[in-house]
Amino acid sequence: MDIKRPKNFFGEDIPLTVFISEEQLKGKKEGSLFGRYFEDTGIFNVFPEEIKERGNYLCDIQPAGSAPDPEGFSAIAEADGLRFFWKTEPVQAESYGLYQSIFSRNKGILETDVMNRKCAVILGCGSVGSLVAMELARSGVGHFVLCDADTLEYHNLCRHQCGIEDVGDLKVNALKRKLMNINPSVEVRTFGGIIQNINKEILDEMCRPGETIFVGCADNRTADVYSNKVAVYYGAAFLSIGFWERAYAGEIFYHIPNRGMPCYECALGDGGGMSGRVEANHHVYSNQENLEAVRFEPGISVDINFITSIGIKLIIDILNESNEDYTPRLLGHLKQYTLVCNTSDPKIGGEMVEIFSYPLQVTTSLVVGFGSGCDGKCRYEKETEAQAAE
Ligand SMILES: [Zn+2]
Repeated sequence: MDIKRPKNFFGEDIPLTVFISEEQLKGKKEGSLFGRYFEDTGIFNVFPEEIKERGNYLCDIQPAGSAPDPEGFSAIAEADGLRFFWKTEPVQAESYGLYQSIFSRNKGILETDVMNRKCAVILGCGSVGSLVAMELARSGVGHFVLCDADTLEYHNLCRHQCGIEDVGDLKVNALKRKLMNINPSVEVRTFGGIIQNINKEILDEMCRPGETIFVGCADNRTADVYSNKVAVYYGAAFLSIGFWERAYAGEIFYHIPNRGMPCYECALGDGGGMSGRVEANHHVYSNQENLEAVRFEPGISVDINFITSIGIKLIIDILNESNEDYTPRLLGHLKQYTLVCNTSDPKIGGEMVEIFSYPLQVTTSLVVGFGSGCDGKCRYEKETEAQAAE
C-alpha cells in the first residue's frame, strides 16, 4: 500500500494523523481496521465498527511488541491502546468519544440522552420521509422504524436524501445506511412494504409510550388515517406532512394521545370539524385517482424541504414535551393543523393560492374538531375524560 502525502508550504511532509474512536483505540486488540485515507489532509479516518464494511481495508491489528510493517500502515495493540505507524514512522492518533463528539453541537439545546431514547416510525421514506429521518438522526433520535415499499430510482434523486450509490435498493435500506452514517449506534428496523402490512412484532418491540412518534410521510390520506390509529394504539404521538400540487403549499397535522385531541380521521379523514374554506382546498386528496396524480406531481426539493422542516421542528418539540429543560419552538404556537405555503403566486399554485396572503406563510389559527365517522380511540379518550370530569 502506498499513499500520497500532503505537503506544507515549504514542501515538507505534513504529519499523518489517525482519527479513531476511544472505544476502538482502547478496546480493540485484534481484527482489522477499515476506513479512508484523505491525501489532502493526511488523515486516516478509522470507521466505527458498525459501518466498517463501508471503508477500505487499512490493516490487521498486530499483537504487542510487533514491528511496524515497513511497506505501509500498521496498528499494534499495546497494553494502553493501539499505536499506529506509517512504514516505520509513528502516526499520532486523535481519539474521540464517538457519540459525544457527533452530538456535541446540540449541547445546551437538545439533551443527547433524552433524544437517544426516542423512536421515530417513518411511514414513507421518499423525499419527505428521508429528510425527516435524517434530521431526527441529527437531533439525536436513537431508534427508527422505516416503512416503505419502493425502490430508489434515478427520478427520486433530485428530491431524496440518498444518491446514486443507493439506486436500485429499497428506500428503507438506503435510508438506513444514511442514518448510520450520521450515528452508527442508531437502531434501525426496516419494513419494505406499506404501513397497513407492517409486522406488529417490529412495532411492539420499538414503540414505547411517551418516547415514540409516528410520522406520516406517504402523501396518502388513507395511510395517515391508519397510521394515526396505530399510533394511538401504542400511546404514541402522530404527525403527518402532506403536499398540495407542485408543493406550492403543504399541510402538517399532529395528534398527541390522551389529550382529548381529535385524531387524523376525525380532523381530516372525513372532512369533519374543518372550516369550509380549508376543506374546499382538499380536492386533490379526495379520491384514489387524484391521489395517483399527486404521487407523480412535480415539486422541487427546496419547496418540499421548507414545509417538511416545519414538521420536523414540531416533531422535536413533541418528543421533548415532557422535558422541562427544553424550550419548544413551535408547539403551542401551531395548532394541530397547519397550512404552509411556499408561494402565493397563482402561476404555480393556481387560484387556490388565494388563501395565502404572502409567500412562506405559516397559518397558526386553523382549528380542527372531532369528526362523526371516527371509530378510533381518540373519541373514546375524549368521552372517558368527560366522564372522569363529571
Ligand atoms: Zn378520531
